[in-house]
Amino acid sequence: MCPDCGSKARIGKSNRLSLAHADLYCSCTDPECGHTFVANLSFSHTLSPSSRTSSALVTELVKAMNPLQRKQLQQELALL
Ligand SMILES: [Zn+2]
Repeated sequence: MCPDCGSKARIGKSNRLSLAHADLYCSCTDPECGHTFVANLSFSHTLSPSSRTSSALVTELVKAMNPLQRKQLQQELALL
């Protein structure tokens, strides 16, 4: 939305600043307004964690275990 007139605006270009932030270059679709502006897009919060992250976490936890703990874990997983 155009912050000046409330009409729909179109994103013409985006400039990614990081994985979580981008600048959006926008232009108002109302020809009588013609406002062009930059809006920000940013990551807000996680609803469900990435399975990549949780898999890496489990791998690191298993690596930190001693051989006996790993053996016990293997036996417990075999029961599932
Ligand atoms: Zn406008």
